[in-house]
Amino acid sequence: MKNVNRATRTAAAATVRWPLAVALLALTGAAQASNCHLNIEANDLMQFNARALQIDPECSEIQLTLKHVGKQPAHVLGHDWVLARTSDVAALANAGIAAGLDKGYLPAGDHRIIAATKVVGGGEETTISFNAAALVPGVDYSYFCSYPGHSTFMRGRVMLADKAKLAVNR
Ligand code: ZN
Repeated sequence: MKNVNRATRTAAAATVRWPLAVALLALTGAAQASNCHLNIEANDLMQFNARALQIDPECSEIQLTLKHVGKQPAHVLGHDWVLARTSDVAALANAGIAAGLDKGYLPAGDHRIIAATKVVGGGEETTISFNAAALVPGVDYSYFCSYPGHSTFMRGRVMLADKAKLAVNR
């Protein structure tokens, strides 16, 4: 009896930790047969419109479209979308500041960058594709904006969706 209670409590805690992610999975799972094309928006308030993105492990190639729905030009308040291991985000963000706008606020050729869009300004959008096989199950991934000072606010989790759960949602 004691063991059962402990297991229930652990499961509840795990669910509470990522309520947004769970909500997102419920929404995208119901609306789309495939999650191979992801969309995310960024605005003039230094916000992404999602705190987590689910990647379907069955996609061989992931497409991501970043849309800047604000009005500020790229050199004033631009945004990009960069995918990296969560443990590399802080160092990449710092290296990006030194790289400057001409390099898209990212160190050129850095192997820690798994995928990255260019920096876009208000009203612009950009689409990239990357190989889903670059993501290793069990590793913690995040996305962030590398424009100086933005990564503190503009970041989220990238998760490989559980195949079994996706099958249920479909
Ligand atoms: Zn930004």
